[in-house]
Amino acid sequence: MVFYLKYRPKKISELDSHSVVSKLEGIIKGKLPDKIPHAFLFTGPKGLGKTSTARILAKSINCTNRKKGEIEPCNVCVSCKAINNGSSLDVLEIDGASNRGIDEIRDLREKIRLSPVASKKKIYIIDEVHMLTAEAFNALLKTLEEPPEHAFFILCTTEPQKIPQTIASRCFQIKFSKPTEEDFLHSFNRILKGEGIKADKEALMQIIKLSDGSFRDGAKILEELGSASKHITVNLIEKKFKTASIGKNVLGIISSFEKKDAGAGIKIVDGMEKEGVDFKLFSEELINTLHGRLLAQISGESFEMSIEQTKDLIQMLVKSHQSIKYTILPQLPLELTIVEWASSENPALPAGRSENSEIQNVSESENQKIITKSSSANLALKGETLQGRSSSNRPKRDKILMELIERIKKENFSLAGVLRGCKVEKFDKRELVLSTKYKFHKERLKDKKILDMLEKSIYEMTNKKVKVSIA
Ligand SMILES: [Zn+2]
Repeated sequence: MVFYLKYRPKKISELDSHSVVSKLEGIIKGKLPDKIPHAFLFTGPKGLGKTSTARILAKSINCTNRKKGEIEPCNVCVSCKAINNGSSLDVLEIDGASNRGIDEIRDLREKIRLSPVASKKKIYIIDEVHMLTAEAFNALLKTLEEPPEHAFFILCTTEPQKIPQTIASRCFQIKFSKPTEEDFLHSFNRILKGEGIKADKEALMQIIKLSDGSFRDGAKILEELGSASKHITVNLIEKKFKTASIGKNVLGIISSFEKKDAGAGIKIVDGMEKEGVDFKLFSEELINTLHGRLLAQISGESFEMSIEQTKDLIQMLVKSHQSIKYTILPQLPLELTIVEWASSENPALPAGRSENSEIQNVSESENQKIITKSSSANLALKGETLQGRSSSNRPKRDKILMELIERIKKENFSLAGVLRGCKVEKFDKRELVLSTKYKFHKERLKDKKILDMLEKSIYEMTNKKVKVSIA
């Protein structure tokens, strides 16, 4: 079993977030279930233990051995055991993402009227609750307003701003914030002790930095390092994560951005990929360095790139960094940014202009498909010359493409992103020929529906029936 699951906290004192522990203690201490608020809202980023905490709270509420004045579940009674192995009939976990409609919530409202089967209370844990539809929220609100005596709700979300105020105000809110150093060490020590692994303090500090604010990521890193050696040192981390070569390559990539030399940039990425560099970490360092530059530029220092350019580049890199976790090729988002940056003709890009905006606008599963498809495009790309494009003598062609993008953007944002990577090969009264370097974009553009949409837009713009084709 992976460390994160194996060492999932089973009682309140094992929870890693100190602030969450003290809040829960405050609510539960000295209270039997009837006095505990009947609805909770857990908010905060992924990987901070919201679901684990919800289960522990459910155990504490239903534990038959817990006496007034105690807060911990016993983990041995029938109810605790059933919750631990996920077989409790009275604690129901619902994934908001896949049960988001009104029918599911209506169903829930009806079921919740029924008394618990074997425990004191019936507890609903709704994960990703922000995914519910407006109708479903309304139905949930009615239940929260007049809950049956035996009902408890624990709502969890990574996006609290999407929860209607009417719902949030009826819940006792617990915010899961970015773990402190102490929280991380608490989490790591449980794992290290359990696995009999030794770790130097300095090494643990580096792992905290690599964990990106997530217990889950931290546990994963410990697992990786722990499988290599029973003694985790800074040297081992350097060997595994190439922390030293990252600094050197950050400067190399920035220089390739300045020269708009995609070939050089891709070569560096290629080298890092072979070396096994962690691209998420690399992107963070790259963004950090550019951020430092931007601040220096604002206070008057000059660099090769303008302030506008640095700002645009940071925006593109932030987007590509966000998509790393969804790709099967971690280097791909950075490569796409390098290529796009080098082929952008205007020195200052309009805000939000990014090939990756496409990646941002699709669901995770769609995303996987795009990335999978693009991996072949990526291989093809590497063999090509990536530098520059001739921009001479093409004002009319560029104009039609720009207008087309503006128009399409309103209907189909991700298609506009695809068009931005296109070049007009030919444009006259009868024909518009577009080309793109990306195989997966080409496939998409060749779709009959897409071509129809483009032709319709051009007709609206020019009043001429122009045939669109993809070279
Ligand atoms: Zn118990």
